[in-house]
Amino acid sequence: MRLPRFEYLKPENLNKLLQMLAIYKNDAKILAGGTDLLVRMKKGLLKPKFVISLKDLKELSYIKQNNENIKIGAKTCIADIIDSNIIKNKAYALFQACQKIGAATIQHYKGTIGGNILQDNRCIHYNQSAFHRSGRGACHKDGGKICYARDDADRCFSTCQSDGATALMALDAKLSLAKKGKKRTINLADFYTSDGIIPFIIEPDEILTEIIIPIKDGVSFYKRLSCRSSIDYPIVSAGVFLKPLQKNVPLEKNTIDNARIVVGAIGRSPLFLSSASLFLKGKKFNDINAFKKASNIAMDNASTFAVHNIGSTTLEYRCSMIFQMVFQALEQAVNLNQENQK
Ligand SMILES: Cc1cc2nc3c(=O)[nH]c(=O)nc-3n(C[C@H](O)[C@H](O)[C@H](O)COP(=O)(O)OP(=O)(O)OC[C@H]3O[C@@H](n4cnc5c(N)ncnc54)[C@H](O)[C@@H]3O)c2cc1C
Ligand code: SF4
Repeated sequence: MRLPRFEYLKPENLNKLLQMLAIYKNDAKILAGGTDLLVRMKKGLLKPKFVISLKDLKELSYIKQNNENIKIGAKTCIADIIDSNIIKNKAYALFQACQKIGAATIQHYKGTIGGNILQDNRCIHYNQSAFHRSGRGACHKDGGKICYARDDADRCFSTCQSDGATALMALDAKLSLAKKGKKRTINLADFYTSDGIIPFIIEPDEILTEIIIPIKDGVSFYKRLSCRSSIDYPIVSAGVFLKPLQKNVPLEKNTIDNARIVVGAIGRSPLFLSSASLFLKGKKFNDINAFKKASNIAMDNASTFAVHNIGSTTLEYRCSMIFQMVFQALEQAVNLNQENQK
């Protein structure tokens, strides 16, 4: 498969990049590591006239913290996040999620956290070569009027399979975006449309510049299931965060003040499950039955978003594994913290 023709642009700083985006808008695509973008271009899913590289934008690669937040530049490489003690100590679920992304080659040489959040939604009927897709009529995401994943669907149900985004939503992260003359910050949970064709609320002349994770007392964990242990996308995943009520009280004797349960690789975005999360408020950290009930609520609620659009597994199996991913993430978040206290 060959790349289509395009003009390659390499601005030396953010201002120049924003000027280019302001001119070329929908004709341009941003290239970070390219591990999602270039694959889609090779498959003929995308034919931008201009590809604007972030290669020289060193100003977008950093991990820093102040008293309130961890800040990660959008161009930060996945391997740098895995190596960061700040992330390991304060945002453990993100550390775990990044370890799972693709393979060492993707983590070390190319893939960025910004590209991970903004990778396009996926579907087995769509992420195929042009030759494969030409065998039948185009689906909604490919410019047609049919969906092969859900009968009679009037829109696209392609799935967000970003490991990073699921963990970041559990950690209640925010995104900073910039366009020429304007900046804005948005909760990651509010960044998604409900349409798999264009999954994100980002303008064509905007760039993601920074990911902000609030530093909160609490434990987090990320679990995922995939058919292979590497070079494979998740078929279902869960990110959780649990905040204790009392300070300086061991978790096994503590009460949950706030919970965030997020299920990934099932819906058009990572799914923050408010009923399951609220159910855990006021429950004890060692209440395994409460964890089981919350996992069941999560499974019931998240399953309604699932469609059969990931290969090598059935929809029923994926949905049934939501319970396992959420329950294991909750249980292991607490166990890990107790082990660290010893
Ligand atoms: C074999 C294989 C396995 C993979 N496995 C996984 C996996 O297990 N889990 C997973 O989550 N992902 C996986 N991926 C997807 C991808 O490799 C990662 O998500 C990676 O982190 C993407 O980062 P990138 O910098 O290469 O993105 P790019 O390909 O450069 O960009 C992705 C998209 O984001 C846009 N973009 C990038 N940066 C910005 C920015 N700062 N502002 C605005 N738009 C931006 C680009 O225009 C493009 O549309 C896999 C990919 C491959 C090829
Ligand atoms: S969910 Fe339907 S419309 Fe969307 S990519 Fe898959 S087949 Fe196409």
